[in-house]
Amino acid sequence: LPRTPLFEAISKQPTEKTAIIHSASGKRFTYGSLLGDIASTRSKILANAGTDDLKEQRIALLVENGYEYVVSLLSIFASGGIAVPLCTAHPAAEMRYVLGDSAPSALISTPKFLSRSTEILDNDVSKLLQLPELPPSDSKSQDITIELQQNDWASTKRGALIVYTSGTTNLPKGVVSTHSSLFAQANCLIDAWKMSPEDYLLHVLPLHHVHGIVNATLAPLMSGGTIEYLFPFTPASVWTRLCSGVTDIEGHKKEKISLFMAVPTIYNRLISSLPSQPKEIQDSAATAISCLRLAISGSAALPGSIRDNWRQLAGTEQGGGKMLERYGMTEIGMALSNTLEKRVNNAVGWPLPGVEARLADPETGALITEADVSGEIQIRGPTVFREYWNKPEATAKEFVDGWFRTGDVATKDGEGCYFIHGRTSVDIIKSGGEKVSALEVERELLELPQVAETAVIAVPDPDWGQRVAAVVVLTAKGQEEGWGLKEMREVMKTKLAGYKVPTVMRVVEKIERNQMGKINKKTLVKSIQSIKQ
Ligand code: ATP
Ligand code: MG
Repeated sequence: LPRTPLFEAISKQPTEKTAIIHSASGKRFTYGSLLGDIASTRSKILANAGTDDLKEQRIALLVENGYEYVVSLLSIFASGGIAVPLCTAHPAAEMRYVLGDSAPSALISTPKFLSRSTEILDNDVSKLLQLPELPPSDSKSQDITIELQQNDWASTKRGALIVYTSGTTNLPKGVVSTHSSLFAQANCLIDAWKMSPEDYLLHVLPLHHVHGIVNATLAPLMSGGTIEYLFPFTPASVWTRLCSGVTDIEGHKKEKISLFMAVPTIYNRLISSLPSQPKEIQDSAATAISCLRLAISGSAALPGSIRDNWRQLAGTEQGGGKMLERYGMTEIGMALSNTLEKRVNNAVGWPLPGVEARLADPETGALITEADVSGEIQIRGPTVFREYWNKPEATAKEFVDGWFRTGDVATKDGEGCYFIHGRTSVDIIKSGGEKVSALEVERELLELPQVAETAVIAVPDPDWGQRVAAVVVLTAKGQEEGWGLKEMREVMKTKLAGYKVPTVMRVVEKIERNQMGKINKKTLVKSIQSIKQ
């Protein structure tokens, strides 16, 4: 295998240590078998391409979450190619968009996704590279020695991965991360969150975004931990697993989970489903949460109500009871995070080790150094991506003097702690010359017992430029009360400055979110454009 920092870290782990477990079947795989399977799959990929270095050829992968996925991803890294993970839940049209944009020379798939793969390749099966059926647990010899070969991929910024952004503000863009940026992204998390071989992570995230790939897969593997893949996420399966940890399954004792990473909607679904879980689960949920070393939230702003309800379920701020929120994006991995020692409500914390952050006026570019003045977050450091795939203009536009412009607005308090206010393009509403943070208004609305979910958006207005509008899903209480615009405005006026209080409200049954719990506000605006006050 090539001598990249990632493979160096993984090859240092004891070969007999369990790296990966499949939650449903209990199948487990050691670091030894992982390295062995990466080496043999790499040989297959290279033989198939008739070369000994893919030199950044893209290879797409459509593989279920778990061992096969990790083997596929890392063997593409090891072949010198660029891995392009597809979302197994996406409709064919979205997969075709990714294939069309990244133009992979092959698609790795498993028997489960064979027909889907053939479909999206338009029957051009010459590109299909099928991984064999999953080997039985621990099938490989455990004393396998893998030699690391010198190469200069890390120093030459060789591309390793294209992840598509969530498409929250526009069509998804392919983000090219290099061997060295991925290593830096995972390494700063290991450092900040003190990830170690003792850690046992329950993985419930999709594997086509950095949250699931870097934070919850590469970082635990580089630090020698164990990952248990449970997918697809259902509240019942996650509660059952979190609350087990002592029961025997297939001859193996179920280990206690120490790390849990999720998006706010997942936490919300766990909280709201607990009352319908079996009594034993309800009785042990508090212990399960407080036994976690860390419960981490990110990918979207963490509403205070979710944070507080989770804390209340735990009955303590110990262990996982006090959620840790962090901020990041596809282009830079994670950049800001609360720390093990200090977690500030509604804040995303401080720059991670090795990451530099600053705020600048989004229009003039002037740097902001005063506390509590909002500006666009800019990031610099070894974690930053190389380029948007095939979009040199977009890449050039997003960098100033070597700093990446995130498009997110934040303030920093006197202690350097960051508070996110939202995206310049959709969350910063300009109404009558004032700027309103949609995230701030959402946070206040979510505190109300009548509001189950909300998205605050801007609607165009001839007099004000834009108006603040709230799209709301009511709780049972809100529905019973027939809660509406008037009642909302009355209470919100006591919480926020008048210009921030929404003047338009639309009650809906559901707010569409993608798999990462994100709302596409541009689509939402279109869908309610017809409303009048
Ligand atoms: P696109 O770039 O295609 O519009 P996207 O920006 O949603 O989509 P991602 O890279 O997956 O794609 O998401 C990064 C964004 O998620 C950040 O720019 C930020 O707006 C948001 N985000 C991540 N973590 C947090 C957080 N803790 N609080 C608030 N927002 C967050
Ligand atoms: Mg983005």
